[in-house]
Amino acid sequence: MEIGVLGSGQLGRMMALAGYPLGLRLRFFECAADSPACQVAECVHACFDDLDALASFARGVDVVTYEFENVPLSAARHAAEHAPRFAPPLRALEMAQDRYIQKRFFQEIGVATAVFCPVNSRAELTPAIEATGLPAVLKTRRWGYDGKGQVVLREQADVDRVWQAMEGLPLILEKWVPFRRELSLIAVRSVRGETRFYPLTENVHREGILRLSIAPAPASSGLEGTARALAEKIFAALDYAGVLTLEMFEADGRLFANEMATRVHNSGHWTIEGAETSQFENHLRAVAGLPLGSVAPRGCSAMVNFIGSLPESAAVLTIPGTHLHLYGKTPRPRRKLGHATLRAASHASLTASLGRLLKIAGEDTLAQNPALIETSWAG
Ligand code: AMP
Repeated sequence: MEIGVLGSGQLGRMMALAGYPLGLRLRFFECAADSPACQVAECVHACFDDLDALASFARGVDVVTYEFENVPLSAARHAAEHAPRFAPPLRALEMAQDRYIQKRFFQEIGVATAVFCPVNSRAELTPAIEATGLPAVLKTRRWGYDGKGQVVLREQADVDRVWQAMEGLPLILEKWVPFRRELSLIAVRSVRGETRFYPLTENVHREGILRLSIAPAPASSGLEGTARALAEKIFAALDYAGVLTLEMFEADGRLFANEMATRVHNSGHWTIEGAETSQFENHLRAVAGLPLGSVAPRGCSAMVNFIGSLPESAAVLTIPGTHLHLYGKTPRPRRKLGHATLRAASHASLTASLGRLLKIAGEDTLAQNPALIETSWAG
């Protein structure tokens, strides 16, 4: 079976690597000459405005999927018109591209979020602040990821300065959630309607970028059940197929949806070694119409991102239980270049090695804060 993928970053690379053992052939559509997925799989080099190239790419595969959500909607629609199948659905991609549309959708289907308001002018900002209170987060509706395009408004005195930085873009103001922790749920639904839910993952961000994921997150079955019910609502409303990631805040024992990614996700990288079937393989199975694989965890995992620069591979690999993934990217500040996953029999036995790995990754503050890590273990 041939699977066409729009985009070709590290998520695509890991998807391609997961497809090989199943005999699935992945072909990527990518404008750039060199990219992580094109280093390991076949690529068609063309840009998203080349509609003829898109159409022939789509006609030449059994299903088209995507590995990043900023594929222009018009290009995705054109591919969908010419492909035998397109998944996850276009409507899901549209939701993923606009924070406001997405949060309205959450509201409509009964998924709790922080209070939010659209903001299109300075005049709209004042009533929006009255609705959310301060602190609040002002975010661009589109093109924001890894903390890009968002500023925290702590007090009234910040407002004019922050407005000048964001003016001219469609924005959304969200109430600041004083969360106890951030959790994500990686869920998958196949074109046959079969669903699976990985155990919850606990995530630690710094400067808006994911640094550390721990899975399974210590969580009650009630919390797991609530998160799954939210994903079920999204699946049903969108007639979804593929992997879906739901990023949430836990506050006062409640879950608030922050955002959804209609694709495989950084907080699910631990599943490569830490689950019976990885998110990448299950995404491929889901869109290809194959039975889904078990999502049972294999022990406990911690995933640490390498951002901006890479450590010596040998230093990482001396840590027992470590699995190293490098994406073949040129180092740049704030760029995700690779990750390592530590796997162990229990959370407690991960702690010492995780401290070493975090130090090597340059996450000294986290490494020197075993209490933070142990708190997450303790639940
Ligand atoms: P996002 O781009 O929306 O995923 O935000 C990146 C990170 O910023 C989140 O993972 C949180 O750590 C933080 N953040 C974003 N929105 C909020 C909010 N409303 N309340 C508290 N923290 C937030």
